[in-house]
Amino acid sequence: MDPLVAAIDQGTSSTRFLVFNAKTAELISHHQVEINQSFPKEGWVEEDPKEIMQSVYECMERTCEKLCQLNIDVANIKAVGVTNQRETTLVWDKETGEPLYNAIVWLDLRTQSTVESLINKAPGRNKNHLKHKTGLPISTYFSAVKLRWLLDYVDEVHQAVLSKRAMFGTVDSWIIWCLTGGRNGGVHCTDVSNASRTMLFNIHTMDWDPELCRYFDVPMEILPKVKSSSEIYGWMKSSSLAGVPISGCLGDQSAALVGQMCFKEGQAKNTYGTGCFLLRNTGTKPVMSDHGLLTTVAYKLGKDEPACYALEGSVAIAGAVVRWLKDNMGIVQSSEEIEKLAAAAGTSYGCYFVPAFSGLYAPYWEPSARGIICGLTQFTNRNHLAFAALEAVCFQTREILDAMNQDSGVPLTQLQVDGGMTSNRLLMQLQADILCIPVVRPTMSETTALGAAMAAGAAEGVHVWSLSPCHLPHVTSENYEPQINPDESEFRFARWKKAVQKAMNWET
Ligand code: ADP
Repeated sequence: MDPLVAAIDQGTSSTRFLVFNAKTAELISHHQVEINQSFPKEGWVEEDPKEIMQSVYECMERTCEKLCQLNIDVANIKAVGVTNQRETTLVWDKETGEPLYNAIVWLDLRTQSTVESLINKAPGRNKNHLKHKTGLPISTYFSAVKLRWLLDYVDEVHQAVLSKRAMFGTVDSWIIWCLTGGRNGGVHCTDVSNASRTMLFNIHTMDWDPELCRYFDVPMEILPKVKSSSEIYGWMKSSSLAGVPISGCLGDQSAALVGQMCFKEGQAKNTYGTGCFLLRNTGTKPVMSDHGLLTTVAYKLGKDEPACYALEGSVAIAGAVVRWLKDNMGIVQSSEEIEKLAAAAGTSYGCYFVPAFSGLYAPYWEPSARGIICGLTQFTNRNHLAFAALEAVCFQTREILDAMNQDSGVPLTQLQVDGGMTSNRLLMQLQADILCIPVVRPTMSETTALGAAMAAGAAEGVHVWSLSPCHLPHVTSENYEPQINPDESEFRFARWKKAVQKAMNWET
């Protein structure tokens, strides 16, 4: 039997555990559990850290049962990788092992006023004041401001810091700490890709930055140790996989870049999940954007390997708009159903939907923007609205691709895609039409998990997976070619841009 490598993929909307064959990349078995989100106040988004861990254990145990049913010995699993929703912020007590507050999810807007006052205090009121160190604009999106909120408003967190019991982490740190023993010797670490989303990490020195920590008034002793994305962090302590090394750790978008094998400078992928994230590999040099993109650490595949960087365009709301149509509006019963509705309409009939529920991220970075639906007529029905929602995801990607092409000067000639939404074929065709370039989708859609498994399997001391580009028989792809006239595409895109202006200035 070929060696197997597993990945924990802890996303915003669900947790998955997947087991791959390390020689062929074939997906052998997996299990998925949905995660509840709570919205305690307008703009607040939280998840329960204990529910996150329960979902991880449940997915692992159920997958191991499925392997047994396939007569596959779980002892063939040689390593586990972790990939996760990025920026989501947790603080827990290292002595009790208890979380001190819910996880504040990346989409959360509670820090909007803190962010506004930080920008007002910055020289020239420049939101890019810290970009030279972090690659990021000051925004509600990143962990430092969420951590600041926890330190200021949650007494348990404040007290735990004073008595040296507090541990901060993004979701990867929480999972690895729990799985390696928790309060009984758990390993408190993160990798460079996750650290680079906190705003406390210097992407040039590759370490926590004392000046940034002072700026946000964050005590450095609560931060996890920063490691590479591929090395043994520790060993699983309980569960059916006790004794297996955890040896891969990548933020979800970095993992997708690895899983899509975008190892060369200039290669890019777009992942459509809760949000939508287009990353372009810029090699070993960080490239600063002039067009509203982020500079981020993509990965560092081994202690002694160089770090690789990426330019990133982040869209806050992609699949989340479908979930909103389902959960808040009741327009569809399931996310998949939206394709049927949109296909029945075949057009938005002049309706434009800007789902700026959490402000607008790239390329605008405007936290006060709010969602709008415009161009409605007596004729508009829920099918048109469904179409407009999917089209919004495609227009947002077009804005990012345009920014990326301007920054790099070399236009992308095709777009590699992945993520939960890419099973929607109408969306894929619409995307090719709006970008006027082909869209390429791997038939194995779990590229995020694949990337984490690759990092884990390739780690020193594990060495069951080779990262050199090779033909993997189970990684085939499907192409969508543009089918509409580019003038038609430009016309619709220009209308969309007008709608975005309205979303940004809806109060005036
Ligand atoms: P995440 O990693 O952010 O949790 P996933 O990659 O699991 O996200 O994708 C889930 C998101 O994709 C959900 O927001 C869901 O509404 C959306 N989604 C899933 N399937 C479809 C579909 N067929 N059409 C449109 N949206 C979909």
